[in-house]
Amino acid sequence: MSDCLFCKIVQGTIPAKKVHDDELCIGFHDINPQAPAHVLFVPKRHIATSNDLIPEDRELVGHLTLVAAKYARAQGLADGGYRLVVNCNRDAGQTVFHLHVHLLAGRQLKWPPG
Ligand code: 5GP
Ligand code: ZN
Repeated sequence: MSDCLFCKIVQGTIPAKKVHDDELCIGFHDINPQAPAHVLFVPKRHIATSNDLIPEDRELVGHLTLVAAKYARAQGLADGGYRLVVNCNRDAGQTVFHLHVHLLAGRQLKWPPG
């Protein structure tokens, strides 16, 4: 999608602090971190929201979770814990309409999130 911010980050036309890159997804630091560690894992293919997932995306969705968990382990965040979040549409406060998994860690996270 030519007017999608995260497609532009995937394509490299907008810079990001990348921590991961493979055939299905990239990971990069959030520009406005909400925790000491705040990384976004983003599929390379444009998918607007979790409402747009289809059964064929099962492997991709699992891959995003596994990549995030591996990153957390590698960064020493796994034992302390972390949160994986996917915001969908207005009530969840989604602002970028290209599917992404937030990894938040490094502080005590409130629950419920509000
Ligand atoms: P959402 O609110 O859609 O779940 O999350 C979008 C996230 O993207 C926000 O946490 C926001 O800070 C982050 N973000 C927005 N624009 C940029 C950008 O240009 N670069 C990076 N690295 N993150 C961004
Ligand atoms: Zn996109």
